[in-house]
Amino acid sequence: MSSISPRNPMKIAFFSYKSYDKEWFDKHLGDTGFEIDYFRVRLVAETAQYAKGSDVICAFVNDDLSGPVIEELAGYGIKMIALRCAGFNNVDLETADRLGIPVYRVPEYSPHAVAEHAVALILALNRKTHKAYNRVRDGNFSLSRMVGFNLHGKTVGVLGTGKIGRVFAELMRGFGCRVLLYDKFPNTEMEDKGYSYVDLSTLLKESDILSLHVPLLPETAQIINSGTLKMMKDGAMLINTSRGGLINTEHALKALQSRKLGYLGIDVYEQEEGVFFQNLQEQIIDDNTLALLMAFPNVMVTAHQAFFTREALDEITRITLQNIEDFSKGVDNENRIELPE
Ligand code: NAD
Repeated sequence: MSSISPRNPMKIAFFSYKSYDKEWFDKHLGDTGFEIDYFRVRLVAETAQYAKGSDVICAFVNDDLSGPVIEELAGYGIKMIALRCAGFNNVDLETADRLGIPVYRVPEYSPHAVAEHAVALILALNRKTHKAYNRVRDGNFSLSRMVGFNLHGKTVGVLGTGKIGRVFAELMRGFGCRVLLYDKFPNTEMEDKGYSYVDLSTLLKESDILSLHVPLLPETAQIINSGTLKMMKDGAMLINTSRGGLINTEHALKALQSRKLGYLGIDVYEQEEGVFFQNLQEQIIDDNTLALLMAFPNVMVTAHQAFFTREALDEITRITLQNIEDFSKGVDNENRIELPE
């Protein structure tokens, strides 16, 4: 558990706050002495001023920590950025480094949470459980158009075998799938366990189900595009619980329309900022691509909830507070993000 010590008057500006965040942070704050100002708004250039008078920014996946926003935050005296997530594609690390603002993240909180959600998307898309639930509630007990396929014996491609990809591979092996891996840096432990690494084109060509677990980087941005989609098996299933920017969504839409892509399950979406994490029930969704995607019978969209388990929230909160505590005391902490060489 956290070694947070009594009284530490750090003032934290907490952006993109949801009620569950407060519940977990209140539970873990203990006697840290940290003072948290919760803001429902997303951090963007127009809302950065809320951070005036704070020492630390606590931000989430869709907060904007681009260069100009960080410059503004530096002007308000912000000393540290504490991400309460693993991915940091939304942060201009060079600007933060130049301005002497360290950026911390929570690199691992529960790879199981995300990997299990990827499996949930596969099972629901395949066996149409979401439709079955609604049908039966509506008194429709017919099985027409509900047929799925056995996972057993199918080939599953894992693109990225970091913490989440490795757990996902083990889960799919448990179903009796043939699991193929691709990573820029193959993991010898996976090879020792009998998994095979293949090149990207083999992964694309042989997978019945392809699941994305690489971070969003310039070299992985839109790694799924018309070219790579063309290489995939006809009718394959594509799952993305990593970052929306890994898929060129327009190209994926075309592949669905041409029946090249058989299923698409996404927990993340290229343009999710401003839509995901909001209740827009009574509003018109001003995103034609997303609206079209949601209308497809073979597409399942969840709103960036793969991380959302009690165990993960507990870890995220504990580690975020520990990061702030370590920073305030000048204690070395490996969760500080290093600038890439
Ligand atoms: P990780 O850093 O442990 O693993 C990433 C893997 O990708 C590494 O093995 C790395 O070698 C590989 N990789 C990097 N660049 C590559 C490239 N160009 N080609 C091939 N492989 C490459 O990360 P993780 O903890 O497994 O998380 C993966 C991603 O999942 C995160 O970056 C984050 O974006 C996403 N995520 C999503 C949620 C959610 O709720 N949907 C929650 C947590 C994490």
